[in-house]
Amino acid sequence: MHHFHYHNDSLFCEDIPLERIAKEQGTPCYIYSHATLTRHFQAYDQAFASVPHIIAFAMKANSNLAVLRLMSSLGSGADIVSGGELFRALKAGIPPNKIVFAGVGKSHEEIKYALESDILFFNVESSAELQAINEVAMGMGMHARVALRVNPDIDPHTHPYISTGMKKSKFGIGADRALEEFQKAASLSNIQVVGLHAHIGSQLTKISPFVDSLTKVLGLLHTLKGKGIPIQYLNIGGGLGITYSDETPPHPKDLAEAITPLLRESECEIILEPGRVIVGNAGILLTRVLYIKDTDAKKFAIVDAAMNDLIRPSLYDAHHDILPVHQVPNAPEDVYDVVGPICESGDFLAQNRTMPLVKAGDLLAVMSAGAYAFTMASNYNSRPRVPEILVKEGESFVVRKRESYEDLILGEQIPEFLKS
Ligand SMILES: *Cc1c(COP(=O)(O)O)cnc(C)c1O
Repeated sequence: MHHFHYHNDSLFCEDIPLERIAKEQGTPCYIYSHATLTRHFQAYDQAFASVPHIIAFAMKANSNLAVLRLMSSLGSGADIVSGGELFRALKAGIPPNKIVFAGVGKSHEEIKYALESDILFFNVESSAELQAINEVAMGMGMHARVALRVNPDIDPHTHPYISTGMKKSKFGIGADRALEEFQKAASLSNIQVVGLHAHIGSQLTKISPFVDSLTKVLGLLHTLKGKGIPIQYLNIGGGLGITYSDETPPHPKDLAEAITPLLRESECEIILEPGRVIVGNAGILLTRVLYIKDTDAKKFAIVDAAMNDLIRPSLYDAHHDILPVHQVPNAPEDVYDVVGPICESGDFLAQNRTMPLVKAGDLLAVMSAGAYAFTMASNYNSRPRVPEILVKEGESFVVRKRESYEDLILGEQIPEFLKS
């Protein structure tokens, strides 16, 4: 459920026609719906109301300060994966005691920054990282709270690039080695073991992998308790999928219903790390058709947005619906490749897509572009990154300005010897 809808054949975000935003801000631009973000967060939060929990929004999905501020105002914490994300989370006012830090390659500087900031805990991904955190904490005369991320070896049936909980994955500690690692962690002088973490992947459209993972995790919790290592926080990660085209992922309520008995049994405070399900369908990428190019083999709609703005189609072969901002009832259709201006054959937003006829100048809305979209944008081909706009009912706010050419060269310098 989201707040992008047609009204008199014109596509709106909440109460604002997208055409108006294009006129005021130019294209391409990202547009987020405040009502949708709010609704999705609250739906997730309410679904788990019967267990003590903290939602740590996975901010790698969307880390715009205004979006984070909104999440924070709704009670969210943050799941971070870098020092940069910690900086953003704190800037947005997310309380440190609701921040958890995952990722396989935390640097000493990042560990130090997180300890200084007094975050809730680290999600530790390896034995070597545990040693590093212990050392850094010792140097600071502190104790580091950690959760060990276990890899329950569950196939989440999603794209291999976003599947993280299988044996061959770089994430987490193998379930068979977990007890040993927990015991090692508990013995380290400056480590305080407080949690267990299991995040198995992203864009999951079935409940069963969550249940299977939790069932394994509960066994481990039980063993740990028996060994005198009580666990206070159970972090079940994120991963719930959304509808991009014809997927039918469970509603958060259905997921919660299925796993609440298991969560209760854990007797832990639950950490939830949803990302995509909160923001994915709350955003779109608005783009304008520059040219139509008709060849013997294909028909291309060349648009002003490209893979540097939205890489998911190129990277994951992901499907994004593409809707005309002005729909014409019963319009004839044709088959298009929707491509950007970047000099790569992999630069496309859609391939072999049947769409109502489009012509140069038309506006198109690339749907479901709120998650892993702007956060993955780059300056490839020296293209300034596009603005992000937050719509709240009848008002729109630029929450990130369009980059300028000057922004592109920020920090670059030509050494003296090249100047003469
Ligand atoms: C990416 C990630 C998430 C969020 O995944 P979604 O599929 O966006 O919900 C949660 N936890 C961890 C550790 C992650 O890496």
